[in-house]
Amino acid sequence: MTFNELNLIAPLLQALEAEGYKNPTPIQEQAIPIVLAQKDLLGCAQTGTGKTAAFALPILQLLQTAHAERAPKQIKVLILTPTRELAIQIGESFAAYGKNLRIRHTVIFGGVPQGSQVQALNRGVDILIATPGRLMDLIGQGYIKLQDIGIFVLDEADRMLDMGFIHDVKKVVAKLPLKRQTLFFSATMPPEIQKLANTILSKPEQVAVTPPATTAELVEQSVYFVDKKDKRQLLHFVLKDPAITMALVFTRTKHGADKVVKDLHKVDITAEAIHGNKSQNARQRALSNFKDGKIRVLVATDIAARGIDVDLLSHVINYEIPEVPETYVHRIGRTGRAGASGTAMSFCDQEEMQDWRNILKITGQKIPVIEGHPYPLASSGQVQINLPKNKEVVRRPNAVSGAHQQSTRRFTNSGSGNRGRS
Ligand code: AMP
Repeated sequence: MTFNELNLIAPLLQALEAEGYKNPTPIQEQAIPIVLAQKDLLGCAQTGTGKTAAFALPILQLLQTAHAERAPKQIKVLILTPTRELAIQIGESFAAYGKNLRIRHTVIFGGVPQGSQVQALNRGVDILIATPGRLMDLIGQGYIKLQDIGIFVLDEADRMLDMGFIHDVKKVVAKLPLKRQTLFFSATMPPEIQKLANTILSKPEQVAVTPPATTAELVEQSVYFVDKKDKRQLLHFVLKDPAITMALVFTRTKHGADKVVKDLHKVDITAEAIHGNKSQNARQRALSNFKDGKIRVLVATDIAARGIDVDLLSHVINYEIPEVPETYVHRIGRTGRAGASGTAMSFCDQEEMQDWRNILKITGQKIPVIEGHPYPLASSGQVQINLPKNKEVVRRPNAVSGAHQQSTRRFTNSGSGNRGRS
């Protein structure tokens, strides 16, 4: 199917062409006609499936075609999303897809001064993308009125619940006009989310898509067994590969993230950290420096990395193995987005061996072990004994200069329910 067959208007088709999108993703194929028909939608889809365009494109089209009726300066579409990062990314998507239209949007989120957000609101916007806390704040201060909302999108509803925003969401919904179109997206549908969907949707059409074949099938995974004290050296060694132009490195702690950055600076590798102790501005700056190629390595903790969506991110490096196995799946899902291939390497020390076994169990995958690297576990005899059963060994004495690409292989996922991504 083509975007043309979805009856999108020319300015949108041109923008999609400029973005390099050739064909709609499954969620886009299913959702766009429903939204264009002005029906409510219950979408079971995760980030990475193309769901943002699935709602952004038809919303832009509906606003554009209803242009004559549009009251200026009033918010007509509200998109509620749990994190600042997601809010910013949704804003960027509206900017990209709507670049040939004169529809105004703005993004509001907490953690930064409200001044410029209030100014943008005062200038008048058609589409407001918001996180719940800041939205409630600005409603409370009288800067935002929701009485003209014709379309309401609730994005990542299950994450709203996880992050404790569900009360705010309910308060926002209570302020919306009853006559509206509602689009509800959630990666999972636990009973509480299903209940919320039932209360805010009216005769919804349902669409569900399986996550893209990224996490399991397109990401080349490998593990290096290494002593904790040698991880720093191993990272430098691995980064000698010029094929790694962009790497997202995960640590368990904020302190650990800062330390990795410091170590990388010592060997002249450009790097910045993003974590909860950094100001919102510093985090955004680091993320855009990374996206723009100004820094090669972004070091992140799991919370800070939520919702990061970097097109063409080629490498994820687990400097430390996560304790929660699902986190591994989320981390490696940062690469290999929208069908691109990606590589995920994990550095596992003796103490993390049990965590690694748990990851193998949940992913149901055989992840190749890189042998022959310069920093093997000192107690290599022990490694053999302690290695998880389904290990697969790849001999890779020369890990530098493209060897990563050649010797890792693709694995298909036999497991189920393990492809969640944040
Ligand atoms: P999302 O699930 O909305 O976060 O989208 C995931 C990624 O896929 C984003 O980087 C989008 O830019 C990209 N994307 C969305 N739709 C398409 C498409 N039809 N073709 C290619 N890339 C897409």
